[in-house]
Amino acid sequence: MRTIAILGSTGSIGTQALDIISANPDEFSVAGLTAHSNIGKLKEQIDAFKPKAVAVMEREKAEVLAEEIDYAVPVLAGLAGIHSIATMQETDAVINSLVGSVGVTPTLKALDAGKRVCLANKETLVAAGDIVMQKAQQREAELLPIDSEHSAIFQCMRGVDDGEVRKLILTCSGGAFRDKSIGEMRSLTAKDALMHPTWKMGSKITIDSATLMNKGFEVIEAHHLFGMAYDAIEVVKHPQSIIHSLIELNDNAVLAQLGWPDMRIPIQYALSYPDRIPSSARPFSLIDVKQLTFGEIDAKRFPCLGYALLAGKAGGTMPAVLNAANEVAVHAFLNDEISFPDISRMVKEALDSHTLIRRPDIDEILEVDMRVKNEVRNTISEQ
Ligand code: MG
Repeated sequence: MRTIAILGSTGSIGTQALDIISANPDEFSVAGLTAHSNIGKLKEQIDAFKPKAVAVMEREKAEVLAEEIDYAVPVLAGLAGIHSIATMQETDAVINSLVGSVGVTPTLKALDAGKRVCLANKETLVAAGDIVMQKAQQREAELLPIDSEHSAIFQCMRGVDDGEVRKLILTCSGGAFRDKSIGEMRSLTAKDALMHPTWKMGSKITIDSATLMNKGFEVIEAHHLFGMAYDAIEVVKHPQSIIHSLIELNDNAVLAQLGWPDMRIPIQYALSYPDRIPSSARPFSLIDVKQLTFGEIDAKRFPCLGYALLAGKAGGTMPAVLNAANEVAVHAFLNDEISFPDISRMVKEALDSHTLIRRPDIDEILEVDMRVKNEVRNTISEQ
């Protein structure tokens, strides 16, 4: 029996993780849950899963929830509350499915407490990859990917020695705007961008998929998770999202992991690893797939991927700047305050104006994160 805490339990990954837990009561149980502000859904989850403690990021909402629930469970508040849930003594594994750089310190706290961290929060490794990987190593804590691409690579890596891998190949659906011209992109709205062609996900990541910033983040994450040089990571467009990613070995053999685009498989694998247990996900069929196609990414139409690679290669605080500017710009785009091409423009401006700190500690990263977010917010409000 593995006891699980879920940070961000009311989001897309969190609710799917709870489905897996309730379908496998002999394998998993819930110790703690956290939500940003959706206390209605969190209340239902408390009734269904009887966690030992919960936390709500927005303090006023935490107070309202504490008044409303019948089941006697401590309701913690704010980031400190989330840190408490991330380090609960009875927990074996922590799913971090928070959105944004707020996910960085809960990952570090959980690793420090020796927990297995099942990582869906991309910003953790983008903003603070070196520090997080070092922490996992120091504490001999497992850091397992939930993202479909990294899970695919992680699965392919089993039984392969590190020195035998020459290249990682990340696949990319192309996002909601894969067939749009630069001219068309100017007038597209958040509503258009939220129609992802293959995956059903939260709004932040769906916009990141439309700009291909998501794929840029995934390259940075793969660099950290698998210790591969940036030049040994390739991105290939694969509109059907059936091959989730591949590895190329020294002898030119290529291994891939395939399946329907269904996050329940990578979520469950991160929880059950190293075991494989039955899943309620739809069985795969090559006959039903019929056709798989591949192509190059058009770097001109999707500049964010290139900016992410530049920031990753520069290292230090640069990826944290990339993430912070993107986070604020995407939020503004979701609120219809800026246009789609403004997202990449604001990210580029933030990178261009940043003075790199080569070996930042976590406080310097968090300080840069806050400062860049404020600067980009100010630019947007002055428009
Ligand atoms: Mg992905």
